[in-house]
Amino acid sequence: MNQYIERVLNATKAKNANEPEFLQTVEEVLTSLEPVINAHPEYEKAALLERMVEPERVIEFRVTWEDDNHEWHVNRGYRVQYNGTLGPYKGGLRFHPSVNLSIMKFLGFEQIFKDSLTTLPIGGAKGGSDFDPRGKSDAEVMRFCQAFMSELYRHIGPDIDVPAGDIGVGAREVGYLYGQYRRIRGAFENGVITGKGFAFGGSLMRPEATGFGAAYYANEVLKHEHDSFEGKTVAISGFGNVAWGLCQKVAQLGGKVVTLSGPDGYIYDPDGINTQEKYDYLLEMRASGRDRVQDYADKFDCEFHAKEKPWGCKVDIIMPSATQNDVTMEWAEKIVANGIKYYIEVANMPTTNEALMYMLGQKNMIVAPSKAVNAGGVAGSALEMAQNSERLFWTAEEVDEKLHRIMVNIHDASVKAAEQYGLGYNLVAGANIAGFQRVAEAMMAQGIF
Ligand code: GLU
Repeated sequence: MNQYIERVLNATKAKNANEPEFLQTVEEVLTSLEPVINAHPEYEKAALLERMVEPERVIEFRVTWEDDNHEWHVNRGYRVQYNGTLGPYKGGLRFHPSVNLSIMKFLGFEQIFKDSLTTLPIGGAKGGSDFDPRGKSDAEVMRFCQAFMSELYRHIGPDIDVPAGDIGVGAREVGYLYGQYRRIRGAFENGVITGKGFAFGGSLMRPEATGFGAAYYANEVLKHEHDSFEGKTVAISGFGNVAWGLCQKVAQLGGKVVTLSGPDGYIYDPDGINTQEKYDYLLEMRASGRDRVQDYADKFDCEFHAKEKPWGCKVDIIMPSATQNDVTMEWAEKIVANGIKYYIEVANMPTTNEALMYMLGQKNMIVAPSKAVNAGGVAGSALEMAQNSERLFWTAEEVDEKLHRIMVNIHDASVKAAEQYGLGYNLVAGANIAGFQRVAEAMMAQGIF
């Protein structure tokens, strides 16, 4: 390995020994930058990698809120403003009990490269809380969001840092968060957060953007292989906003999503999740706050496999769309044994590094990385910011057309970046290199600090 990369990796490991998810993503990204670092000795002189792995700023704060029984709870809130070289910090907020500094830093680090890949003017950030939205009443969620924003507001702004949703944060939470920001600031600065309701500046197609974008990207991969979605079956995990958009676009492109999963297990629907009734039911399941996918099997009378993952299913395409480290080595071996050609990550870092490397090493397999595949979400957000600053709305067709173009570009830029360094059709390295190049160039130009 390149000695500079090795040195930075070792130092990062020593400094952040109890942040496994963060170290996982740093290792994945830095190792694939080897040919670029070899070609640019000036980066070492400018301590570029050392600066890149260290967040510009980490904000950690107390969030105190009252439940419906008048009991008080204290959660921890975070905002990691990782890299602002390309634009205002941009990235979602995650409300989930698993949230800790390691998860926030891994997501923030990924976001730098993802946001760069969109070619839009946005820096990388992530935030959230260990608050568990499961089983909370609407009033409790509102009070939590208000308490969260009462601290966060001083760190964000339309030209400073623009949060959005992620796991556990959807349109409802974004509405409450924005309402509190507006109340405290005394100004209608709706460019401060994205994923808003359409009535107060949300973008048409933003709810669909992550899922549609992932399907557009997968479609480019299939095209590259002189193939298409026509007649293909797709196994996905999760049943949230991303899955909802993905099921629809895959169906429109001629494919069929046949699985969904939740913390309780997975469902297998051989007819496909491809009717309006089924799409609407996904939204209902989410809104119920039960976090159970078995409800789908009960409603549409299909198989439910308790406490299992869908990765042993014999399908044409696998698209993990739930959360990090969903696909471990054990699953990767099953996927390879089943002869599945297309492994397209959708959720952030859904694959362990070991499993990812193993699948990348298979001759007949194509692996696509989440930071490229799911970039449609944040791209949709950047398009929302553009509309907010111009104080106008684009039609759904206009947004969709831009989103489609961005996803095609991300695929093509990744292909080009990998080819430039003689790596062949390697979408994982290509995305890291293409994302890195833009940030590196801007960091070099802006001086060392
Ligand atoms: N949470 C999404 C992501 O991981 C979207 C972020 C955004 O829209 O700012 O990219």
